Amino acid sequence: MKNAVRRLGIASALVGVALMASEQDAASQESAVLSISAGQAAGVDELRQWDATVDGMARTGEIVVMSRLGDASLEGRTHEHLAQYFAGIPVFGGGVSRQLDAGGVTVSLFGTLHQGIDVNIAPALSGAQVAALLEEMHGGEVLAGGQPGLGILPLPDGSYALAYYFAMSDGYFYFADAADGSLLRRVNAVKEQQAAVGAGSGSQGNERKLSTTQEDDRFHAHDRMRPAEVVTLDVRFNSQRYRRLFANHLIEGLPPGEAVWTADDYATDADNEWDDPTVVEAHAYTGWTYDYFSARHGWEGIDGANGRTISMVNLGLANAFFASPPFGPEGNGVVGYGRRTNETSEEPYTLLDVVGHELMHGVTHFSVSNRTGSPFGLYNLVPIGARLGPRSFTDRTGETHTCETARFPGVVETPDGFDVGLAPAWCENGRFVLAYSGDGAIHEGYSDIFGESLGFYYQDEGASADYLVGGDFSEGPIRSMIDPSFSRDPDAYGDRFEFALTLDEDEFWDYSGHVFVRGEYFGTLRNDEFGYGGDHWNSLILSHAFYLAIEGGTHRTSGMTVEGGGEANREEIERIFFRAMRDLMPAMATLPIAAALIRQSAADLAPGSDAARAVDQALRAVGLGPGVR
Ligand SMILES: [Zn+2]
Repeated sequence: MKNAVRRLGIASALVGVALMASEQDAASQESAVLSISAGQAAGVDELRQWDATVDGMARTGEIVVMSRLGDASLEGRTHEHLAQYFAGIPVFGGGVSRQLDAGGVTVSLFGTLHQGIDVNIAPALSGAQVAALLEEMHGGEVLAGGQPGLGILPLPDGSYALAYYFAMSDGYFYFADAADGSLLRRVNAVKEQQAAVGAGSGSQGNERKLSTTQEDDRFHAHDRMRPAEVVTLDVRFNSQRYRRLFANHLIEGLPPGEAVWTADDYATDADNEWDDPTVVEAHAYTGWTYDYFSARHGWEGIDGANGRTISMVNLGLANAFFASPPFGPEGNGVVGYGRRTNETSEEPYTLLDVVGHELMHGVTHFSVSNRTGSPFGLYNLVPIGARLGPRSFTDRTGETHTCETARFPGVVETPDGFDVGLAPAWCENGRFVLAYSGDGAIHEGYSDIFGESLGFYYQDEGASADYLVGGDFSEGPIRSMIDPSFSRDPDAYGDRFEFALTLDEDEFWDYSGHVFVRGEYFGTLRNDEFGYGGDHWNSLILSHAFYLAIEGGTHRTSGMTVEGGGEANREEIERIFFRAMRDLMPAMATLPIAAALIRQSAADLAPGSDAARAVDQALRAVGLGPGVR
C-alpha cells in the first residue's frame, strides 16, 4: 500500500544539511540527508543530536553496523557504516557513514535516514512470481539466476514499498513492487566512458611490457605476478562471445567467482611478442593502475581485497565501461573496451587514463558496496537534490509543455511489456521537478580525477600528464578538467545540468531528456536518451575543482582565485580525494555531499595545510562551498 503522504524527493532536496525546520512548509520531512561534522561552525550540537539518534536506532535494530574499519591514512580513526533496516529488511540507500576518533567520539556523520517507514513486510507475491512477471514485461530476456533481493524502496510520494530487485541480462537492476509486481525503478549497472559516441583515427604505437602466462603453445593475457590477478579476455568483435561473458554467469545462476570463460576467450599470442595494441594497453595499464592504487592509496585490486580484475577487449561498441557485480564473466564485475571510431578510422579505448577511469569506477563501486552493503554501490534510488522548476516551458521544436499535461519519452509499462513511450511529467505544486544524477556525477568525476592522476604518477614512463580525458586520442580529448567548456559542460555547481523528471502512477520515476540550467529550459536530448541524468557533464564540476586545487587559477565564471597546492601537494590532494571515497562516502550522495566529504577528508588528514586550504578554495570556486545544498 502506498500512503498518500507528500513527496520524498522534494523533502530530501530541502533537508540538505539535516532537517531544516524553516523549509517544513514546502514538503513533509520523510527523510534526512545528513552531512555534518564536528569541524563545522555550529555543527557540534547537531552532530551530537544525530549521533544519539543513530545510537538509539542501533539499539532497536533500525540501523545495523555493516562494517567497522580502521583508517589506512590516519592512525586512531575508525569508520563505521550503519545501514538502515525496517523490521529486519534493508532500506535501500538508507544508512550513515560515521567517523570516530581514537576516543570513540564521533567526528563526522554522512548519509540518508528515511523516517516514517510504514510498510507491510509480508510480500503478496513470491520472488519467483515477480521474476516471471518482470521477465514477461521485459520482452522475453532471461532473468538472472539465483534469489532476488528484497528491500524497502523509498518512493517519490514519500511512502515506501516492499520491493524485489533483480539484475537482468541487459545490464540493469530492476525494482518491482512485491505487492503487485509493478516496476518501481530501473538503474544501470554499466558505467560508460562517455555519453555520446566519439570518433577517432590512428593508433598509439606504445610499447608496453606484458605480464603473461604460458599455456600449451600460447601465451595468455593472464597476469599472476601481482597479488591480484589481471585477466584480459578478447571478444574479437564477436557479439555472442560478448553476451556470454557479460551475462551468462547470471543467466546460469552460478556462484560468485565461478568463471564462465574458457581458454579460447583469453587474449593470446603465439610468441609473447604481443601485436594487438588493444590487448597490450588494456592488460599493461590495468597492472599500472593496480600498482598506483596500491602504492598511493592502500587499495588492493579493483575491489580493495585483491579480487581479480577482468577486462574484455575488442568489443563492437564505441565506448569503454565498467559493469558492477553481478555482471561479468565470474559475477564480480567486468571492464570492457571498444573502439573510438569515425568514418575513416578507429582507435581502441585503452589509453592509460581511460583504463584508470574505468578501474576507478570499480573502486568507487566496491568501496561503497563493501562498506555499506549496498548491492548497487553508490546509487541514488531517490532523487536527492531535486528541486522545483518552472510551471511550463517551450522546447527547441516549439512545443510548449505545461505541468498538467506534459508527457516525456521514457520507459513505460504497456500491456505488451516495457517499451519506450510517453511517461507523465513529475510535477509538484504545478511546477516541474528537476534533478540531476548526483551519484553519476560523483562516479564520473572521481573516475576522471584518478584516470588523470595516473598520467602524473607515470610521467617518467612517458604517460601524458595533461588533465585531458582521452588526451592521447588522435582526434583529441573527450573532456578537459582544465576547461570544462571544452566539451560545453558546466564548471560550477550553480550551472549544473538538471533534468525534468517523469513519474508514473505506479511511482516509477526517471530522468527525462529535457535539460535545464538555473531553472531555465536549456535543450533536449534525443528521444532515446532519457534516463541519463547528466553524469559525465556534471562530473566536471568536481574534477575541475580537483584541477584547481593543484594548479590554482581564477575560476572562469565565479571569478574566484584559487591558490593551487602545486606539485608539492599533488600527492596529498590525491590522498584527500581518494580517502573521501574510500572511507567516508555513503550509499547515496549529491555533489554538495561529495564536497563536504572531501573537505572533511582534508580537515582530517592535513588540518591547516596548504593542501587543505587549496582544496577548500577550489570547492568554493566551483560553487561547492560549505552550506551549499
Ligand atoms: Zn565513466
